[in-house]
Amino acid sequence: MTSSVCSRNAAFSGPAAVSLNGLWLEILSKVEKRIQRSQFVTWFKDTAILGRDGGKLVIGLPLPMCLNWHLEHYRGITLAAAKECDPLIEQLVYKVDGTLKDSADRSVNLLEHFPEQKKRKLPGKQEVKMAEGVISKILNPRYTLENFIVGESNRLAHAACHAVSKQPGGKYNPLFLYGGVGLGKTHLLQATGNAIIKFIPNSAVVYTTSEDFTNQVVEAIRVQKMDKVRQRYRMVDALVIDDVQFLANKERTQEEFFHTFNTLYEERKQIIISADRPPQELDLEDRLISRFERGMIADVSAPDYETRLAILVEKAKEYELFIDLPVLQFIAEHTTRNIRELEGILMQAIAQYELEQRMPTIRSISEIMGKLNKDQYLKEESAGFEKPQKRRPTFQEVIEAVSRYYSVSVQDMIGPKRKHEILLPRQIAMHIGKKYLNLTFVSIGEIFSGRDHTTVMNALDKIEERMQVDYQLLREVHAIETELGVA
Ligand code: ADP
Ligand code: MG
Repeated sequence: MTSSVCSRNAAFSGPAAVSLNGLWLEILSKVEKRIQRSQFVTWFKDTAILGRDGGKLVIGLPLPMCLNWHLEHYRGITLAAAKECDPLIEQLVYKVDGTLKDSADRSVNLLEHFPEQKKRKLPGKQEVKMAEGVISKILNPRYTLENFIVGESNRLAHAACHAVSKQPGGKYNPLFLYGGVGLGKTHLLQATGNAIIKFIPNSAVVYTTSEDFTNQVVEAIRVQKMDKVRQRYRMVDALVIDDVQFLANKERTQEEFFHTFNTLYEERKQIIISADRPPQELDLEDRLISRFERGMIADVSAPDYETRLAILVEKAKEYELFIDLPVLQFIAEHTTRNIRELEGILMQAIAQYELEQRMPTIRSISEIMGKLNKDQYLKEESAGFEKPQKRRPTFQEVIEAVSRYYSVSVQDMIGPKRKHEILLPRQIAMHIGKKYLNLTFVSIGEIFSGRDHTTVMNALDKIEERMQVDYQLLREVHAIETELGVA
């Protein structure tokens, strides 16, 4: 960052600035196409070309925090875009210039030149009335076979859906998918419906849940129009019915479904079914179960770490949220139950980003996770589960746990020594003591050989700052917290 470069082109207004602004606009329009919008708006707002010296461009950034981000993430993209605009450009140097912030005349007005094209895609839940008595939820275009991440846990199910989409009514009929909540059954069902329509346009694909199907049957009985419903249902080319376990104890609906099933099956129409368990474990009439067992049965189970991570990367892209890989790794590592949970965390991160313009960090994500877990806990509690009484560890136990984890002695940890290898364990013990045991700075100081409270405050600031960016450290702290039962 040579100051001579800037002073030579120091006239920020006037012809030079205009042409530099024009060049920057041209470069930005290329950059914009290559990165997600949320990143673009956040990191390129209030930027400008401050000067040019031959092949060297001086890029002005409004805040110091932008500097690292640009150097790490955008230098390559920006330079490539700049070279496309002017092959003579060889190098970018960055300079932080606080006066650029909100100075519309000096930097490019990003929102004016690059207005938002589309609203964020969020799942829609519309219903269409296809014909009297037949209600189909609109297939959500967001679910496709292409954006479904395949891993060991769902490979067979995905392959079967793919085969069905290429040959509906063929050898995989019916197709029965089963698995726990939030593991991707609805996604696969809807994606297959979408794929069938793409493959055979104008085909009548009806997606319904067993609850909707039940409601339709009940209503048809009430108005005595069962025949009409039957006729209509039997005109569909592919019937997709989600969560058939809810047909349990609904004899009349099961009977109607049995007849519909038979008619469609005989006419070689595709039927796709999902449930939370395999056919033989369903609490349904035997004749229905034996129909389900005729075709292809595939399970969808909980994804492994790599699949979870790949799903997160895909979802973050889909929601146009830029998250550092270590943050995604952190989520994938700590969320094992189901994909919906993963998505819940991402949605919260998006909300946080939109409200506070705060890029997700491991710290902010772990706060979100803590809160979601707590909500889950409250839900379970209110559902009648008894809350196990957890004993809070004593500070002595905290110090012992940290000392075991890092193989340093308790004496060393609380003693006066300032050896490098005990500083971190000491800070972690202080952090856990403050966070979970609500100890005061003064009392923590007393335990650690009568240290002054400001020393404790500094130590806590340091460790908490490091935990914002150091993934490995956060993992270690989390492991200790888990062992202590406070996480
Ligand atoms: P289920 O019907 O089994 O309860 P869903 O199909 O509703 O689960 O899945 C929950 C969320 O997780 C959906 O938003 C879905 O898109 C997503 N999801 C699940 N598995 C995958 C996967 N393998 N790839 C991409 N997204 C997935
Ligand atoms: Mg579902």
